[in-house]
Amino acid sequence: MRETAETHVDIAIVGGGLVGASLGCALASLIERLGLTVAIIEPAPLQQRAKTPWQPSFDARASAIAQGSAIHFARMGVWSDMRDQATPIRQIHVSEQGRFGATRLRHDDLDVDALGYVIPNAWMGRVLHRRLQTLPLGWHCPAAVEEIAPVAEGYRLQLSTGEHLRAGLTVLADGGRSGLKERLGIDSHEKPYDQVAVIASVETSEPHHGTAWERFTPEGPIALLPLQGQAMELVWTHEAGRETHRLSLSDGDLLIELQRAFGDRAGRFRRIGKRHAYPLSLVTARETIRPGLAVLGNAAHSLHPVAGQGFNLALRGVMDLVAALDAGLSQGEDVGSLAVLNDFDARRSADRHNVIRFSDGLIRLFGIDSPLLSHARAAGLVGLNLAGPMRRTLARRAMGLER
Ligand SMILES: Cc1cc2nc3c(=O)[nH]c(=O)nc-3n(C[C@H](O)[C@H](O)[C@H](O)COP(=O)(O)OP(=O)(O)OC[C@H]3O[C@@H](n4cnc5c(N)ncnc54)[C@H](O)[C@@H]3O)c2cc1C
Repeated sequence: MRETAETHVDIAIVGGGLVGASLGCALASLIERLGLTVAIIEPAPLQQRAKTPWQPSFDARASAIAQGSAIHFARMGVWSDMRDQATPIRQIHVSEQGRFGATRLRHDDLDVDALGYVIPNAWMGRVLHRRLQTLPLGWHCPAAVEEIAPVAEGYRLQLSTGEHLRAGLTVLADGGRSGLKERLGIDSHEKPYDQVAVIASVETSEPHHGTAWERFTPEGPIALLPLQGQAMELVWTHEAGRETHRLSLSDGDLLIELQRAFGDRAGRFRRIGKRHAYPLSLVTARETIRPGLAVLGNAAHSLHPVAGQGFNLALRGVMDLVAALDAGLSQGEDVGSLAVLNDFDARRSADRHNVIRFSDGLIRLFGIDSPLLSHARAAGLVGLNLAGPMRRTLARRAMGLER
Protein backbone atom coordinates (compact mmCIF):
# COMPACT_ATOMS: atom_id res chain seq x y z
CA MET A 1 0.00 0.00 0.00
CA ARG A 2 1.23 3.53 -0.82
CA GLU A 3 2.14 5.65 2.27
CA THR A 4 -0.34 8.49 2.84
CA ALA A 5 -1.68 10.25 5.94
CA GLU A 6 -3.88 7.96 7.94
CA THR A 7 -6.43 8.28 10.71
CA HIS A 8 -5.88 6.22 13.83
CA VAL A 9 -8.88 4.60 15.48
CA ASP A 10 -9.19 2.00 18.20
CA ILE A 11 -11.77 -0.10 16.35
CA ALA A 12 -12.64 -0.20 12.63
CA ILE A 13 -15.83 -2.07 11.73
CA VAL A 14 -15.79 -3.21 8.10
CA GLY A 15 -19.46 -3.33 7.08
CA GLY A 16 -22.46 -1.47 8.51
CA GLY A 17 -24.99 -4.26 7.81
CA LEU A 18 -27.08 -5.76 10.59
CA VAL A 19 -24.06 -7.14 12.42
CA GLY A 20 -21.63 -4.23 11.97
CA ALA A 21 -24.31 -1.70 12.91
CA SER A 22 -25.28 -3.77 15.97
CA LEU A 23 -21.65 -3.82 17.05
CA GLY A 24 -21.45 -0.02 16.69
CA CYS A 25 -24.52 0.36 18.91
CA ALA A 26 -23.30 -2.21 21.43
CA LEU A 27 -20.00 -0.32 21.78
CA ALA A 28 -21.84 2.84 22.93
CA SER A 29 -21.05 2.40 26.61
CA LEU A 30 -17.32 1.77 25.93
CA ILE A 31 -17.20 4.78 23.62
CA GLU A 32 -18.81 6.95 26.29
CA ARG A 33 -17.00 5.48 29.31
CA LEU A 34 -13.52 4.92 27.91
CA GLY A 35 -13.45 7.32 24.97
CA LEU A 36 -12.82 4.54 22.43
CA THR A 37 -12.61 5.78 18.86
CA VAL A 38 -14.65 3.71 16.43
CA ALA A 39 -15.06 3.91 12.66
CA ILE A 40 -17.66 2.07 10.57
CA ILE A 41 -17.13 1.66 6.84
CA GLU A 42 -20.18 0.82 4.71
CA PRO A 43 -20.58 1.07 0.91
CA ALA A 44 -24.41 1.30 0.80
CA PRO A 45 -25.72 4.83 1.46
CA LEU A 46 -27.89 3.80 4.39
CA GLN A 47 -27.95 7.14 6.19
CA GLN A 48 -30.18 8.74 3.61
CA ARG A 49 -32.68 5.92 3.79
CA ALA A 50 -32.76 6.27 7.59
CA LYS A 51 -34.05 9.84 7.24
CA THR A 52 -36.93 9.18 4.87
CA PRO A 53 -40.34 8.30 6.39
CA TRP A 54 -40.80 4.56 7.03
CA GLN A 55 -42.92 2.89 4.38
CA PRO A 56 -43.73 -0.66 5.39
CA SER A 57 -43.15 -2.76 2.27
CA PHE A 58 -45.07 -5.91 1.47
CA ASP A 59 -41.89 -7.20 -0.18
CA ALA A 60 -39.58 -6.51 2.75
CA ARG A 61 -37.45 -9.43 3.94
CA ALA A 62 -37.88 -10.21 7.61
CA SER A 63 -36.01 -12.19 10.25
CA ALA A 64 -37.10 -14.26 13.20
CA ILE A 65 -35.52 -12.81 16.31
CA ALA A 66 -35.16 -14.86 19.47
CA GLN A 67 -36.15 -13.51 22.89
CA GLY A 68 -32.44 -13.35 23.76
CA SER A 69 -31.83 -11.04 20.79
CA ALA A 70 -34.65 -8.76 21.95
CA ILE A 71 -32.87 -8.54 25.32
CA HIS A 72 -29.59 -7.64 23.57
CA PHE A 73 -31.39 -4.97 21.54
CA ALA A 74 -32.84 -3.61 24.79
CA ARG A 75 -29.31 -3.38 26.27
CA MET A 76 -28.27 -1.39 23.20
CA GLY A 77 -31.20 0.97 23.76
CA VAL A 78 -32.91 0.11 20.45
CA TRP A 79 -35.59 -2.40 21.43
CA SER A 80 -38.33 0.16 22.11
CA ASP A 81 -38.00 1.35 18.49
CA MET A 82 -37.44 -2.17 17.10
CA ARG A 83 -40.65 -3.46 18.61
CA ASP A 84 -42.75 -0.88 16.68
CA GLN A 85 -42.48 -3.20 13.67
CA ALA A 86 -41.90 -6.49 15.53
CA THR A 87 -44.60 -9.14 15.29
CA PRO A 88 -44.60 -11.45 18.32
CA ILE A 89 -44.66 -15.19 17.66
CA ARG A 90 -47.37 -16.43 20.03
CA GLN A 91 -47.48 -20.03 18.89
CA ILE A 92 -45.81 -22.48 16.56
CA HIS A 93 -47.83 -24.98 14.60
CA VAL A 94 -46.00 -27.92 13.07
CA SER A 95 -47.54 -30.43 10.68
CA GLU A 96 -46.49 -32.90 8.05
CA GLN A 97 -48.15 -33.54 4.72
CA GLY A 98 -49.70 -37.00 4.66
CA ARG A 99 -49.64 -37.36 8.45
CA PHE A 100 -52.50 -36.84 10.81
CA GLY A 101 -52.18 -34.38 13.68
CA ALA A 102 -49.97 -31.43 14.49
CA THR A 103 -47.79 -30.09 17.25
CA ARG A 104 -48.53 -26.72 18.81
CA LEU A 105 -46.25 -24.71 21.05
CA ARG A 106 -47.75 -21.70 22.78
CA HIS A 107 -45.98 -18.80 24.45
CA ASP A 108 -47.88 -19.39 27.70
CA ASP A 109 -46.65 -23.01 27.81
CA LEU A 110 -43.22 -21.51 28.38
CA ASP A 111 -44.35 -18.57 30.50
CA VAL A 112 -43.10 -15.94 28.05
CA ASP A 113 -44.99 -13.12 26.26
CA ALA A 114 -43.69 -14.26 22.91
CA LEU A 115 -41.65 -17.18 21.62
CA GLY A 116 -39.74 -14.71 19.45
CA TYR A 117 -40.42 -11.84 17.04
CA VAL A 118 -40.42 -11.30 13.29
CA ILE A 119 -38.95 -7.95 12.23
CA PRO A 120 -38.42 -6.55 8.71
CA ASN A 121 -34.65 -6.41 8.07
CA ALA A 122 -34.99 -2.89 6.68
CA TRP A 123 -36.60 -1.72 9.91
CA MET A 124 -33.83 -3.30 12.00
CA GLY A 125 -31.25 -1.55 9.82
CA ARG A 126 -33.02 1.76 10.12
CA VAL A 127 -33.34 1.63 13.91
CA LEU A 128 -29.67 0.64 14.30
CA HIS A 129 -28.49 3.41 11.97
CA ARG A 130 -30.60 6.00 13.76
CA ARG A 131 -28.94 4.99 17.02
CA LEU A 132 -25.49 5.11 15.41
CA GLN A 133 -26.11 8.67 14.35
CA THR A 134 -26.44 9.69 18.01
CA LEU A 135 -23.01 8.22 18.88
CA PRO A 136 -19.63 9.91 18.48
CA LEU A 137 -18.18 7.53 15.91
CA GLY A 138 -16.68 7.89 12.45
CA TRP A 139 -19.22 6.91 9.83
CA HIS A 140 -17.54 6.32 6.45
CA CYS A 141 -20.47 5.87 4.11
CA PRO A 142 -20.67 5.33 1.22
CA ALA A 143 -17.16 3.86 1.30
CA ALA A 144 -15.74 0.37 0.91
CA VAL A 145 -12.57 -1.09 2.32
CA GLU A 146 -10.47 -1.95 -0.71
CA GLU A 147 -7.23 -3.09 0.87
CA ILE A 148 -6.35 -4.45 4.25
CA ALA A 149 -2.88 -5.19 5.58
CA PRO A 150 -1.43 -6.08 8.98
CA VAL A 151 0.87 -3.43 10.45
CA ALA A 152 2.49 -2.96 13.85
CA GLU A 153 -0.31 -3.00 16.45
CA GLY A 154 -3.23 -3.55 14.15
CA TYR A 155 -4.36 -3.27 10.55
CA ARG A 156 -4.20 -0.61 7.91
CA LEU A 157 -7.27 -0.13 5.74
CA GLN A 158 -7.50 1.63 2.42
CA LEU A 159 -10.95 2.98 1.61
CA SER A 160 -12.53 3.57 -1.79
CA THR A 161 -12.63 7.28 -0.91
CA GLY A 162 -8.82 7.37 -0.84
CA GLU A 163 -8.73 7.63 2.97
CA HIS A 164 -6.54 5.37 5.11
CA LEU A 165 -7.34 4.11 8.56
CA ARG A 166 -5.09 2.37 11.07
CA ALA A 167 -7.02 0.42 13.70
CA GLY A 168 -5.95 -1.43 16.84
CA LEU A 169 -8.82 -3.84 16.23
CA THR A 170 -10.44 -4.43 12.85
CA VAL A 171 -13.75 -6.29 12.84
CA LEU A 172 -14.67 -7.94 9.54
CA ALA A 173 -18.48 -7.72 9.38
CA ASP A 174 -18.66 -7.52 5.59
CA GLY A 175 -20.92 -10.54 5.14
CA GLY A 176 -17.95 -12.43 3.70
CA ARG A 177 -18.53 -11.07 0.20
CA SER A 178 -15.81 -8.43 -0.11
CA GLY A 179 -12.88 -10.82 -0.68
CA LEU A 180 -10.94 -9.19 2.20
CA LYS A 181 -10.96 -12.38 4.25
CA GLU A 182 -9.47 -14.32 1.34
CA ARG A 183 -6.86 -11.62 0.77
CA LEU A 184 -5.77 -12.09 4.38
CA GLY A 185 -5.46 -15.82 3.73
CA ILE A 186 -8.41 -16.77 5.94
CA ASP A 187 -9.93 -19.87 4.35
CA SER A 188 -13.53 -20.92 4.71
CA HIS A 189 -15.12 -24.33 4.79
CA GLU A 190 -18.08 -24.49 2.39
CA LYS A 191 -20.68 -27.24 2.31
CA PRO A 192 -23.42 -26.79 -0.32
CA TYR A 193 -26.82 -28.22 0.61
CA ASP A 194 -28.08 -28.52 -3.00
CA GLN A 195 -31.18 -26.68 -1.89
CA VAL A 196 -32.63 -23.29 -2.72
CA ALA A 197 -34.93 -21.31 -0.43
CA VAL A 198 -37.61 -19.23 -2.11
CA ILE A 199 -38.57 -16.30 0.13
CA ALA A 200 -41.58 -14.02 -0.40
CA SER A 201 -44.27 -12.18 1.54
CA VAL A 202 -47.73 -13.71 1.29
CA GLU A 203 -51.12 -12.46 2.43
CA THR A 204 -53.71 -14.82 3.86
CA SER A 205 -57.49 -14.55 4.12
CA GLU A 206 -57.41 -15.29 7.88
CA PRO A 207 -55.63 -13.41 10.68
CA HIS A 208 -52.53 -15.35 11.80
CA HIS A 209 -52.87 -14.50 15.52
CA GLY A 210 -49.09 -14.55 15.83
CA THR A 211 -48.81 -18.14 14.58
CA ALA A 212 -45.63 -19.40 12.95
CA TRP A 213 -46.42 -22.36 10.72
CA GLU A 214 -44.12 -25.14 9.77
CA ARG A 215 -45.28 -27.67 7.18
CA PHE A 216 -43.16 -30.58 6.10
CA THR A 217 -43.80 -31.77 2.59
CA PRO A 218 -41.93 -34.39 0.55
CA GLU A 219 -40.57 -31.53 -1.58
CA GLY A 220 -39.16 -29.63 1.40
CA PRO A 221 -40.31 -27.68 4.43
CA ILE A 222 -42.50 -24.61 4.17
CA ALA A 223 -42.26 -22.02 6.95
CA LEU A 224 -44.62 -19.09 7.37
CA LEU A 225 -43.68 -16.41 9.87
CA PRO A 226 -46.21 -13.81 11.06
CA LEU A 227 -45.77 -10.20 9.93
CA GLN A 228 -47.89 -7.13 10.61
CA GLY A 229 -51.52 -7.30 9.46
CA GLN A 230 -52.33 -10.45 7.52
CA ALA A 231 -48.96 -10.73 5.83
CA MET A 232 -46.56 -13.62 6.43
CA GLU A 233 -42.97 -14.34 5.43
CA LEU A 234 -42.77 -17.50 3.34
CA VAL A 235 -39.59 -19.62 3.38
CA TRP A 236 -40.03 -22.49 0.95
CA THR A 237 -37.13 -24.89 0.57
CA HIS A 238 -36.66 -26.70 -2.76
CA GLU A 239 -34.17 -29.19 -4.08
CA ALA A 240 -31.74 -27.20 -6.23
CA GLY A 241 -33.18 -26.83 -9.74
CA ARG A 242 -36.80 -27.45 -8.77
CA GLU A 243 -37.27 -23.83 -7.72
CA THR A 244 -36.84 -22.53 -11.29
CA HIS A 245 -40.28 -23.77 -12.26
CA ARG A 246 -41.87 -22.00 -9.27
CA LEU A 247 -39.96 -18.80 -9.88
CA SER A 248 -41.29 -18.69 -13.44
CA LEU A 249 -44.95 -19.12 -12.47
CA SER A 250 -47.44 -16.27 -12.45
CA ASP A 251 -48.47 -15.09 -8.98
CA GLY A 252 -51.86 -16.79 -9.37
CA ASP A 253 -50.34 -20.17 -10.37
CA LEU A 254 -47.74 -19.99 -7.63
CA LEU A 255 -50.45 -19.31 -5.04
CA ILE A 256 -52.33 -22.40 -6.26
CA GLU A 257 -49.18 -24.56 -5.86
CA LEU A 258 -48.50 -23.08 -2.44
CA GLN A 259 -52.06 -23.72 -1.34
CA ARG A 260 -51.83 -27.30 -2.55
CA ALA A 261 -48.56 -27.91 -0.70
CA PHE A 262 -49.47 -26.08 2.50
CA GLY A 263 -53.19 -26.80 2.77
CA ASP A 264 -55.69 -24.32 4.10
CA ARG A 265 -54.82 -24.23 7.81
CA ALA A 266 -53.57 -20.63 7.51
CA GLY A 267 -56.54 -19.63 5.30
CA ARG A 268 -56.49 -18.89 1.58
CA PHE A 269 -53.30 -17.38 0.13
CA ARG A 270 -54.47 -14.22 -1.60
CA ARG A 271 -51.35 -12.35 -2.63
CA ILE A 272 -47.65 -13.03 -3.05
CA GLY A 273 -44.86 -10.45 -3.24
CA LYS A 274 -41.50 -10.36 -4.95
CA ARG A 275 -39.70 -13.72 -4.78
CA HIS A 276 -36.07 -14.03 -3.73
CA ALA A 277 -34.10 -17.24 -4.22
CA TYR A 278 -31.20 -18.22 -1.96
CA PRO A 279 -28.94 -21.17 -2.80
CA LEU A 280 -28.19 -22.77 0.53
CA SER A 281 -24.82 -23.70 1.91
CA LEU A 282 -22.97 -23.71 5.18
CA VAL A 283 -19.90 -21.48 5.13
CA THR A 284 -17.64 -21.23 8.16
CA ALA A 285 -14.40 -19.26 8.39
CA ARG A 286 -11.50 -21.40 9.57
CA GLU A 287 -10.18 -18.51 11.67
CA THR A 288 -12.26 -15.90 13.47
CA ILE A 289 -9.51 -14.11 15.40
CA ARG A 290 -5.96 -12.96 14.79
CA PRO A 291 -4.09 -10.33 16.76
CA GLY A 292 -5.86 -7.06 15.86
CA LEU A 293 -8.62 -8.84 13.91
CA ALA A 294 -12.02 -10.41 14.63
CA VAL A 295 -14.48 -11.89 12.12
CA LEU A 296 -18.21 -11.58 12.89
CA GLY A 297 -21.62 -12.36 11.38
CA ASN A 298 -21.93 -13.91 7.94
CA ALA A 299 -18.22 -13.35 7.39
CA ALA A 300 -17.64 -15.89 10.19
CA HIS A 301 -20.58 -18.22 9.58
CA SER A 302 -23.32 -18.31 7.00
CA LEU A 303 -26.00 -20.86 7.90
CA HIS A 304 -29.06 -22.38 6.26
CA PRO A 305 -31.70 -19.61 6.57
CA VAL A 306 -34.48 -22.08 7.21
CA ALA A 307 -32.99 -22.58 10.64
CA GLY A 308 -33.37 -18.81 11.24
CA GLN A 309 -30.33 -18.76 13.49
CA GLY A 310 -27.72 -16.70 11.63
CA PHE A 311 -28.37 -13.23 12.93
CA ASN A 312 -29.32 -14.43 16.42
CA LEU A 313 -25.98 -16.23 16.66
CA ALA A 314 -24.12 -13.22 15.27
CA LEU A 315 -25.74 -10.88 17.77
CA ARG A 316 -24.52 -13.03 20.64
CA GLY A 317 -21.07 -12.75 19.05
CA VAL A 318 -21.40 -8.96 19.04
CA MET A 319 -22.29 -8.92 22.74
CA ASP A 320 -19.45 -11.33 23.62
CA LEU A 321 -16.91 -9.22 21.75
CA VAL A 322 -18.02 -6.13 23.67
CA ALA A 323 -17.89 -8.06 26.97
CA ALA A 324 -14.36 -9.32 26.18
CA LEU A 325 -13.25 -5.78 25.29
CA ASP A 326 -14.76 -4.40 28.48
CA ALA A 327 -13.04 -7.03 30.63
CA GLY A 328 -9.69 -6.73 28.81
CA LEU A 329 -9.54 -2.95 28.72
CA SER A 330 -10.29 -2.72 32.43
CA GLN A 331 -7.16 -4.85 32.96
CA GLY A 332 -5.03 -2.60 30.78
CA GLU A 333 -5.07 -4.77 27.63
CA ASP A 334 -5.02 -3.23 24.15
CA VAL A 335 -8.19 -3.49 22.06
CA GLY A 336 -6.64 -5.90 19.58
CA SER A 337 -4.55 -7.93 22.02
CA LEU A 338 -4.65 -11.71 21.84
CA ALA A 339 -5.76 -11.78 25.48
CA VAL A 340 -8.94 -9.89 24.56
CA LEU A 341 -9.54 -11.89 21.39
CA ASN A 342 -8.86 -15.26 23.01
CA ASP A 343 -11.36 -14.32 25.71
CA PHE A 344 -13.87 -13.45 22.96
CA ASP A 345 -13.21 -16.75 21.22
CA ALA A 346 -13.57 -18.71 24.45
CA ARG A 347 -16.94 -17.05 25.13
CA ARG A 348 -18.07 -17.84 21.57
CA SER A 349 -16.79 -21.21 20.60
CA ALA A 350 -19.29 -23.53 22.34
CA ASP A 351 -22.34 -21.52 21.19
CA ARG A 352 -21.02 -21.23 17.63
CA HIS A 353 -20.20 -24.92 17.46
CA ASN A 354 -23.58 -25.95 18.92
CA VAL A 355 -25.69 -23.71 16.68
CA ILE A 356 -23.80 -24.66 13.52
CA ARG A 357 -24.11 -28.34 14.42
CA PHE A 358 -27.77 -27.91 15.36
CA SER A 359 -28.81 -26.09 12.18
CA ASP A 360 -26.70 -28.32 9.94
CA GLY A 361 -28.19 -31.36 11.68
CA LEU A 362 -31.71 -30.06 11.04
CA ILE A 363 -31.03 -29.90 7.33
CA ARG A 364 -29.89 -33.50 7.24
CA LEU A 365 -33.03 -34.52 9.12
CA PHE A 366 -35.14 -33.08 6.27
CA GLY A 367 -34.52 -36.25 4.35
CA ILE A 368 -35.55 -38.60 7.14
CA ASP A 369 -39.14 -39.72 7.20
CA SER A 370 -40.19 -39.61 10.84
CA PRO A 371 -42.87 -37.54 12.57
CA LEU A 372 -40.83 -37.36 15.76
CA LEU A 373 -37.87 -35.89 13.93
CA SER A 374 -40.15 -33.50 12.06
CA HIS A 375 -41.31 -32.05 15.32
CA ALA A 376 -37.79 -31.83 16.67
CA ARG A 377 -36.81 -29.86 13.56
CA ALA A 378 -39.50 -27.33 14.30
CA ALA A 379 -37.79 -25.89 17.33
CA GLY A 380 -35.04 -24.45 15.18
CA LEU A 381 -36.94 -23.70 12.04
CA VAL A 382 -38.76 -20.64 13.27
CA GLY A 383 -35.60 -19.10 14.58
CA LEU A 384 -36.28 -19.69 18.23
CA ASN A 385 -32.87 -20.04 19.68
CA LEU A 386 -34.13 -20.30 23.22
CA ALA A 387 -31.20 -20.91 25.47
CA GLY A 388 -30.40 -23.77 27.83
CA PRO A 389 -33.25 -25.26 29.82
CA MET A 390 -35.88 -23.39 27.80
CA ARG A 391 -34.69 -24.95 24.56
CA ARG A 392 -34.61 -28.35 26.16
CA THR A 393 -38.15 -27.87 27.40
CA LEU A 394 -39.29 -26.66 24.00
CA ALA A 395 -37.62 -29.52 22.20
CA ARG A 396 -39.02 -32.07 24.65
CA ARG A 397 -42.50 -30.67 24.28
CA ALA A 398 -42.12 -30.55 20.50
CA MET A 399 -41.21 -34.20 20.56
CA GLY A 400 -44.14 -35.04 22.82
CA LEU A 401 -41.80 -36.12 25.65
CA GLU A 402 -43.14 -33.59 28.14
CA ARG A 403 -46.53 -32.01 28.77
C1 LIG B 1 -33.13 -15.80 3.23
C2 LIG B 1 -32.51 -15.58 4.56
C3 LIG B 1 -33.32 -15.57 5.71
C4 LIG B 1 -32.76 -15.38 6.95
N1 LIG B 1 -33.55 -15.40 8.06
C5 LIG B 1 -32.99 -15.26 9.28
C6 LIG B 1 -33.80 -15.29 10.45
O1 LIG B 1 -35.03 -15.46 10.37
N2 LIG B 1 -33.19 -15.15 11.68
C7 LIG B 1 -31.83 -15.00 11.79
O2 LIG B 1 -31.33 -14.90 12.92
N3 LIG B 1 -31.04 -14.95 10.68
C8 LIG B 1 -31.58 -15.07 9.45
N4 LIG B 1 -30.79 -15.01 8.34
C9 LIG B 1 -29.35 -14.73 8.49
C10 LIG B 1 -29.09 -13.22 8.55
O3 LIG B 1 -29.74 -12.57 7.49
C11 LIG B 1 -27.61 -12.96 8.50
O4 LIG B 1 -27.03 -13.64 9.60
C12 LIG B 1 -27.28 -11.50 8.61
O5 LIG B 1 -27.84 -10.78 7.57
C13 LIG B 1 -25.77 -11.32 8.56
O6 LIG B 1 -25.51 -9.95 8.61
P1 LIG B 1 -24.05 -9.41 8.32
O7 LIG B 1 -24.09 -7.97 8.76
O8 LIG B 1 -23.02 -10.32 8.87
O9 LIG B 1 -23.88 -9.52 6.74
P2 LIG B 1 -24.61 -8.63 5.54
O10 LIG B 1 -26.01 -8.47 5.91
O11 LIG B 1 -24.19 -9.31 4.33
O12 LIG B 1 -23.88 -7.23 5.72
C14 LIG B 1 -22.54 -7.03 5.34
C15 LIG B 1 -22.32 -5.54 5.11
O13 LIG B 1 -20.95 -5.32 4.73
C16 LIG B 1 -20.92 -4.38 3.68
N5 LIG B 1 -19.68 -4.58 2.91
C17 LIG B 1 -19.48 -5.49 1.92
N6 LIG B 1 -18.24 -5.31 1.40
C18 LIG B 1 -17.65 -4.30 2.10
C19 LIG B 1 -16.39 -3.68 2.04
N7 LIG B 1 -15.44 -4.02 1.12
N8 LIG B 1 -16.11 -2.67 2.89
C20 LIG B 1 -17.04 -2.29 3.82
N9 LIG B 1 -18.26 -2.86 3.91
C21 LIG B 1 -18.56 -3.85 3.06
C22 LIG B 1 -22.18 -4.65 2.88
O14 LIG B 1 -22.57 -3.51 2.12
C23 LIG B 1 -23.19 -4.99 3.97
O15 LIG B 1 -23.90 -3.85 4.42
C24 LIG B 1 -31.34 -15.20 7.08
C25 LIG B 1 -30.53 -15.20 5.93
C26 LIG B 1 -31.11 -15.40 4.69
C27 LIG B 1 -30.21 -15.42 3.47
